[in-house]
Amino acid sequence: MIRRPPRSTPKPSSAASDVYKRQAPINSEIQNAYISFAKMDCSVVAITTDVKIDGENIVGYGFHSNGRYAVSELLTKRFIPRIKEAEEKDLLNDEGNNFSPEKIWKVLMKNEKPGGHGERSTAVGVIDMAVWDIVSKIEQAPLYEHLAKKYGNGKFTNKIFVYAAGGYYYPGKDIQLLQDEMKGYLDLGYTTVKMKIGGASLKEDLKRIESVLKIVGNGKNLCVDANGRFDLNTAIEYAKAIEPYNLKWFEEAGDPLDYKLNQELSKIYKNGLATGENLFSMQDARNLIRYGGMRKDIDWLQFDCSLSYGLVEYLRTLQMMKENEWSSTRVIPHGGHQISCNIAAGLNLGGNEIYPSLFQPFGGFPDTSIVEDSYVSFSKFIGTVSYTHLRAHET
Ligand code: MG
Repeated sequence: MIRRPPRSTPKPSSAASDVYKRQAPINSEIQNAYISFAKMDCSVVAITTDVKIDGENIVGYGFHSNGRYAVSELLTKRFIPRIKEAEEKDLLNDEGNNFSPEKIWKVLMKNEKPGGHGERSTAVGVIDMAVWDIVSKIEQAPLYEHLAKKYGNGKFTNKIFVYAAGGYYYPGKDIQLLQDEMKGYLDLGYTTVKMKIGGASLKEDLKRIESVLKIVGNGKNLCVDANGRFDLNTAIEYAKAIEPYNLKWFEEAGDPLDYKLNQELSKIYKNGLATGENLFSMQDARNLIRYGGMRKDIDWLQFDCSLSYGLVEYLRTLQMMKENEWSSTRVIPHGGHQISCNIAAGLNLGGNEIYPSLFQPFGGFPDTSIVEDSYVSFSKFIGTVSYTHLRAHET
């Protein structure tokens, strides 16, 4: 518990803290071109404060995206103790009326060398998400509004582009089941969907793609994701084969750190490429911008704040993009979590990925959110929405 005195206008007063963590199984037989999710899990933290609103202590929740394992030991041995041992002045903003995500980030990263980001960026991202959740709740304002006013141009929306990510490989999943899955997303209000490729032969994948195109009607409604599986020759082979479909984007063709491969691919593929979900720092993102051949007008960046040191680092990444004359609207984050919906709504990103039927409760929206034509409208929620959503799943 981060103890602070109960009062009508919450004001932090003490740095003592309790941070709880859990490891939740993802436990699914789905597969992409690289991994199975059968033994995948996820770290969840809850930071309890003693700031009370309507008699209830404010709790901030954080978790990370699917596809990276839980970071329990990093949280337990390094990052949670640093928060608990920190002094109040190192956790609160200068006015003393809320927490400071930037100062907390410094506390978390004390005695950490630069580079070699590994999985610590996920541990920091999980705590950072919980901190922004608390900040928003103490402000009693939606996070997107807070972000727009403090870090953006003051403008925000509560309606953003979203697409349904799925189309995984699954034992026994045939073309019919793939089409049924995609029809299900259309029924939920999505027009743009994404499917996996690279986990079967090119011939088989083309059959799968064509079967989904029959459902979504147009290549602009379909993205394909190879999860970093291909070498350059295979990436080019796929690119040439799928180019006539005019897909919305071709995602993570090669290894996420192989900027040269991406650059070569961008020279021969005329439609949009997308990548960035496995780049875990501003510096890695900057290398993609510098050396990856990404095109400002047609390609997409998918940096995921929960995996890459959280929103504090994400703000640096967005600043870096600005300095390189990239529009924030070219970013559609990976991960399907709702803090990214807030970033998109408050800082003018291009939208957000959503997993309508996977990785629950760490995906999807609260029941009050409506998706129409691949745009979601959310009501005026407080926090990062993850709170409401997780609470709903607790009962
Ligand atoms: Mg992906």
